[in-house]
Amino acid sequence: MGMIVCRILFIAVLFFTQTAFAQYSFNAGQLTNDLKILSSDSLEGRKVGSEGNAKARTYIITRLELLGIKPLLESGYVQTFSFPQTFGQVQPGDASNVLAVIEGTKKETIVISAHYDHLGLLGGKIYNGADDNASGTVALLAIAEYFAKNKPSHRIIIAFFDAEEMGLRGSAHFVNALDLARESIVLNINMDMISRSDKNELYACGTHHYPQLKKPIEKISLPEKFSLLFGHDQPGSGRNDWTSQSDQMNFHLKKIPFVYFGVEDHADYHRPTDDFDKVNLDFYHKSVEAIIRAAKALDKALQ
Ligand SMILES: [Zn+2]
Repeated sequence: MGMIVCRILFIAVLFFTQTAFAQYSFNAGQLTNDLKILSSDSLEGRKVGSEGNAKARTYIITRLELLGIKPLLESGYVQTFSFPQTFGQVQPGDASNVLAVIEGTKKETIVISAHYDHLGLLGGKIYNGADDNASGTVALLAIAEYFAKNKPSHRIIIAFFDAEEMGLRGSAHFVNALDLARESIVLNINMDMISRSDKNELYACGTHHYPQLKKPIEKISLPEKFSLLFGHDQPGSGRNDWTSQSDQMNFHLKKIPFVYFGVEDHADYHRPTDDFDKVNLDFYHKSVEAIIRAAKALDKALQ
């Protein structure tokens, strides 16, 4: 191949790479790399109280420190808690939320959250939970970086919850430990399973309960070949109602409005095959972009 052809090709590839990523407000390469690490076998499925769970927590905290994002609590990033041991061997004090804060111009606060724990080892198999919920955890790091660099109006609490898989324990502890009158939390944006969908569909669930949230989300522009749908929040629709199926439920119980982003269950849901190689990276990047745009729109629209 001639030198000139080679150079033109190089420029074309460079142009393609830049335009391919230019549409995103976050570092897609970093996001992909974070997901690969958090869903790797070395974290052994991130079960609450396990060594792998502690490794995931250390990874999250290191990233927050590098980004210069401050801990919410005076004692540091970690909020430890215990819960009744009906679900196994967890000892009191073994569970830990990771909490950070980005100050805005107002005191009203938006909590953006994702659970970082998963099922761990079962029957000798590692449940890596790449979609559930390494995808939301890593997206939360990208969103934290975005708002650290693009100051929000609201104060934003970044909450990585533990023990979601044990009955939404981390978020329950978080909302119960808060002085809600003092904190003035106006919204929870929760992410749980956002990285794959055969139909390229992400759901924004919760607007049935909080219709005021629908308009700002409807107005955002979306990536191509990607749908953001409303629904899965009709009371009485059984498992199709996702209101109680992740950490947003504990905010809802305190009458704090929520929007939960997630995909339909898939064949690898809560199976040892929920792995990194099953993730649709193109869809995942679009999901994260759509959620950042929705968060920006809600930050602007809400009081
Ligand atoms: Zn989950």
